[in-house]
Amino acid sequence: MSGEAGELLFLPLGGAGEIGMNLNLYCYDGQWLMVDLGITFADDSLPGIDVVLPDPRFIVEHRDDLLGIVLTHAHEDHLGAVPYLWTQLRCPVYATPFAAEVLRRKLAGGDGTMAGIEDLVITEVPLGGSLTLGPFEIEFISLTHSIPEPNALAIKTPAGTVLHTGDWKIDPDPLVGAVTDEAALRRWADDGVLAMVCDSTNVFRDGESGSEATVRANLIELIGGLTGRVAVGCFASNVARVATIVAAAEAAGRHVALVGRSLWRITEAARVTGYLEDLPPLLTDRDGGLLPPDKVLYLCTGCQGEPRAALSRIASNNHPHITLGEGDTVIFSSKIIPGNDLGAGARRGAPSAGARALCANATGARIGGRRERRSPEARAGAGRGRRSRPFGSSAA
Ligand SMILES: [Zn+2]
Repeated sequence: MSGEAGELLFLPLGGAGEIGMNLNLYCYDGQWLMVDLGITFADDSLPGIDVVLPDPRFIVEHRDDLLGIVLTHAHEDHLGAVPYLWTQLRCPVYATPFAAEVLRRKLAGGDGTMAGIEDLVITEVPLGGSLTLGPFEIEFISLTHSIPEPNALAIKTPAGTVLHTGDWKIDPDPLVGAVTDEAALRRWADDGVLAMVCDSTNVFRDGESGSEATVRANLIELIGGLTGRVAVGCFASNVARVATIVAAAEAAGRHVALVGRSLWRITEAARVTGYLEDLPPLLTDRDGGLLPPDKVLYLCTGCQGEPRAALSRIASNNHPHITLGEGDTVIFSSKIIPGNDLGAGARRGAPSAGARALCANATGARIGGRRERRSPEARAGAGRGRRSRPFGSSAA
């Protein structure tokens, strides 16, 4: 299958109508362009499996006609399969600087040990830049999302243009990185596009998801009122949220210790590419564990309840340097990604010594079933907040 002459094909081998493992293909005149190559994480229905990859067999068979892989952004479900599958494809890889840095660090950190992966060369494209691969003229358009440098791609061919958005969340005040390049979107709209291929989790849910600036205000207030140790779980890749939690800790007179390898990898990649430059020095979990309870905030991986991540290990009293107990607080600063609900629900009830657990996001925090702070635009989500419970009780 390579289409008729002058025909433009879109062939998603992963990620269309499902969460994760994005692998999108475009074909024109027998030449193929790949957009993203991601993984998905296995849930409890796949015991013993950590990572699920898209099935690349079709494009492996056509790899002589594969011009390159263009990555929209650095989330695992968009680039996480590159270390595992690239050696079957062996084509150029293009990304903006942050995604390129994250991928380089993944490879250097041991992801992708396939023979020949060292031949992988990542070509950086500047924000708002463009690239021509065979019949495809590709322009990168900055959007906003929960990670720096999310890019839509305007893919122009002789048959017309497709706007491939990657993931997006319209945020007028993302705090880290550029705002959505509305002018570029309008320019392409005026030119006319054949189709928009579009990805945004929860897009069919009514209401606004809130801005990162609102989250920051909420977390500063919430953390400022806490005593005892505080542990906060968030997605490591959410660089703006990391900055928010550090700001909230600083405002409360607490030092931040990073707990989890991916948090170190992402924050270092962010610093190298010009984000988080104002961040104060961060402590290791070992050093953080030596501080008085009211002087420390542990920023942890594992906000979805992943069993091997930092929060689950702390919850099950299985961490070498950090323990939580009576009077301490765990904050989950993330939404549950669909598909993670079962695992998260179970792990949040992991045995511990009685620290309480809160869920906090742009819509405020719920503590003991009582609404602590809700922004007006959050009312559409009222009632969906999760009840807090001691960090040792069983999940409802
Ligand atoms: Zn994403």
